[in-house]
Amino acid sequence: MMNKTNAVSRRKFLTGTGMLVAGLALNLRAEKLSVQEPIIDIHQHTDYMGRTNEQLVAHQKAMGVTTTILLPAGTPAFGMSTHQGKSNGLQAKCSGNEACYALAKQYPDSYLFGSNEVPDLQDAVKEIEKYLKLGAPIIGELKFGVQCDSPEMQKIFQLAQEYDVPVLMHWQYTMYNHDFDRFYKMLEKYPRVNFIGHAQTWWANIDKEHKDQNILYPKGKVTPGGLTDRLLADYPNMYADMSAGSGLNALLRDEAHSREFLARHQDKILYGSDCLDAEGHGPTCQGAQTIAAIRKLAPTKEIERKVLYENAKKLFKL
Ligand SMILES: [Zn+2]
Ligand SMILES: [Zn+2]
Repeated sequence: MMNKTNAVSRRKFLTGTGMLVAGLALNLRAEKLSVQEPIIDIHQHTDYMGRTNEQLVAHQKAMGVTTTILLPAGTPAFGMSTHQGKSNGLQAKCSGNEACYALAKQYPDSYLFGSNEVPDLQDAVKEIEKYLKLGAPIIGELKFGVQCDSPEMQKIFQLAQEYDVPVLMHWQYTMYNHDFDRFYKMLEKYPRVNFIGHAQTWWANIDKEHKDQNILYPKGKVTPGGLTDRLLADYPNMYADMSAGSGLNALLRDEAHSREFLARHQDKILYGSDCLDAEGHGPTCQGAQTIAAIRKLAPTKEIERKVLYENAKKLFKL
């Protein structure tokens, strides 16, 4: 006959086993989910503020990302367009074409490399073309102190047209890609080039009431009809990159607006992380929070999948 102590420990053992089985089932379900639901991250960097390749690869895996596009910095330069060197490495110690290419070659099933160069360097077009020829599916990120429609930038847009690849632009008032309000002229002049908008000034201007361009992370309610909203609505070649703190802020500042915005531009919005932590989850990982926000705010499952996967798959012909 079993004594009381044995009965209790046996019950404990059974409960424990039950939890173990439930835990395994959960793990299996999570694994199945990530297999069924791939995520394309269109915006990451190598050597981002000193993060190692091993940390980057583990970070992307922890976020559930299945395909990552690595965006290189330009060659270190010390002229106006890099603010005398301050903006080298995309102002975040990111490495250039060769490092992105090498990592993508190491993981051909899950990593792609972009192509980039400081626009006003003499060999900019030649350097960008070298990596387009090697198979880069994107030019960017273009994060330089230049007029967004300068002759040097237009040479890059022409190259993008020739190779049929999108161009990713970092819009930041007084710092990068000046004169955002004039950019529609480029969308009209290069209708076959798909442009992807990113960063503070891009996201701040979803709001029609955004007046002070010095405010880079505006909070509170959004009135539809800002410049960004109109570019996305009016130009078939304008896309949006959800990445970075600016993208996450735009999603979270007015959730009711975000649901409508995601519905309105459901075929134009692409998921990117652009985050530099080593974790890939939790409060320090903005990329994981952006995935969670998209899952929470997308009005339908179909729209969620478009933003996290389908739109990028189509745009980059993956
Ligand atoms: Zn970036
Ligand atoms: Zn992260």
